[in-house]
Amino acid sequence: MGFCNSCGQPIVKEDYGTNKDGSLNPEFCKDCYQNGEYTEPDITLEEMIVRKTKEMMEKNPRLAETQATGITAMFIPGLKRWNPEFQDDYKTL
Ligand SMILES: [Zn+2]
Repeated sequence: MGFCNSCGQPIVKEDYGTNKDGSLNPEFCKDCYQNGEYTEPDITLEEMIVRKTKEMMEKNPRLAETQATGITAMFIPGLKRWNPEFQDDYKTL
């Protein structure tokens, strides 16, 4: 099992996004990436962190917001979508 390189959620094969030719792209989930494009090309890193922090807190009601933000703010910026070091890797897919 991997995780989505855009939103960070754990993904299995059923959750994979798709490339332009319809093949599966294991780097991203289908919520983030379909037909070779991001489903929300304009979302910013900050917006993704806020969204995922909220989701995490909904799943774990006892988690403090500072703790949840600490996790997402550490994890999400290192994902390929947000990390310029990796961007050439998947643009060619
Ligand atoms: Zn995703």
